[in-house]
Amino acid sequence: MTDRDKIKNIAVLGATGSIGLSTLDVIGRHPDRFRAYALSAATRVAELAMLCEKYTPRFAVMTDADAASCLRDMLKSRSPDTEVLAGSAALEAVASHPDVDTVMAAIVGAAGLKSSMAAAFSGKTVLLANKEALVMAGRLFMDAVRDNGAGLLPIDSEHNAIFQSLPRNYPAGLAAVGVEKIVLTASGGPFRGRAPASLVDVTPAEACAHPNWVMGRKISVDSATMMNKGLEVIEAHWLFGAAPDTIEVVIHPQSVVHSMVTYRDGSVIAQLGNPDMRTPIAYGLAYPERINAGVGALDLTAVGKLEFEALDLERFPCVRLAYEAMRRGGTAPAILNAANEVAVEAFLDERLRFVDIPIVIERVLSRAAIGPAATLDEILASDAAARGAAKAQTLAVRTGQRVAV
Ligand code: NAD
Ligand code: MG
Repeated sequence: MTDRDKIKNIAVLGATGSIGLSTLDVIGRHPDRFRAYALSAATRVAELAMLCEKYTPRFAVMTDADAASCLRDMLKSRSPDTEVLAGSAALEAVASHPDVDTVMAAIVGAAGLKSSMAAAFSGKTVLLANKEALVMAGRLFMDAVRDNGAGLLPIDSEHNAIFQSLPRNYPAGLAAVGVEKIVLTASGGPFRGRAPASLVDVTPAEACAHPNWVMGRKISVDSATMMNKGLEVIEAHWLFGAAPDTIEVVIHPQSVVHSMVTYRDGSVIAQLGNPDMRTPIAYGLAYPERINAGVGALDLTAVGKLEFEALDLERFPCVRLAYEAMRRGGTAPAILNAANEVAVEAFLDERLRFVDIPIVIERVLSRAAIGPAATLDEILASDAAARGAAKAQTLAVRTGQRVAV
């Protein structure tokens, strides 16, 4: 039996989310190639039950214990062969299960760190959507991939595009293969053309209405503040071993050029496509083959024009903060990420104004003790401390106080 003949067992972590559902859509188109072996969700029992009925996975994981027992009852008749596991440790267990070939890491935020790491430590092929894991623990994650012979394929559309635009191997680094710059494209989000003063009263619904992509709420807000691009700059730094000065961001409102690589001889290699995450997901699932992703062909004559403009770091301070955290290194990116998660959640709960998100993050970063990020424990401790500080700053910003935490 060749590798191609073997059906790949896929663990889809974050199956009920935007990336998880797109992954299952691609898996469902290729039952001869892929099996959804494990599915996970945090709390959405009814959604996960429906997915289990459709894909009959060997395991279903609910991180919430009550939700897990509820799912167990529901699956007795609807998918009796699915074993329901509970708790975040169960996520690590399925991510490293001997029968799993590939792990789609699509949990949002720091909650995905341990299971993404577990997949790398157990030598799986990791399809990484959970960019926050790499932002928090980039060096540890990349070392775990290398030391355990894991595969790593970026699912974030920009990084998938860069991966497709780079040579397969460059052990001596990007410069050795003539790369001068990595250029990440950014749509600019829903507020690109808005005057900064008009953003004071924007609502979560307005911030989540992305012009080109349908995504989860947290990443949608990150796209509106452009922290998403900041996190992606750090993600590119680790994924491709790119020095901070070689990573650029350019605004491209159509989201058709997914990112590009500039070479020494003046060549620019880019990947283009319709803005549909099933393209990078299918690329990751079948790599190095190309399979049908259910995505229509790109019609450039219908798109008409492709525009590009420079990024204004004054208008989007979150990108500046991310560059600063990347340059400081150590636990600074983990602190940036934690403060951002707290601030975004507060904004979505209408406890913080949109324009105050970068203020909270900057205050937390400027006061935090930044350490070396040599172990997961150090990173998680920094994450916890930054969350505490960000909650205090969120309250302080709301009440107009300054607190020295
Ligand atoms: P989403 O909010 O739609 O889904 C998140 C998933 O994670 C859900 O299945 C949810 O149950 C699970 N989850 C949430 N909190 C959890 C917790 N505490 N413990 C365990 N599971 C938990 O998010 P999404 O848009 O699919 O994004 C997922 C990841 O992919 C994020 O890291 C995001 O940055 C990245 N990403 C998303 C897109 C996109 O188009 N949506 C594009 C690029 C990268
Ligand atoms: Mg992206």
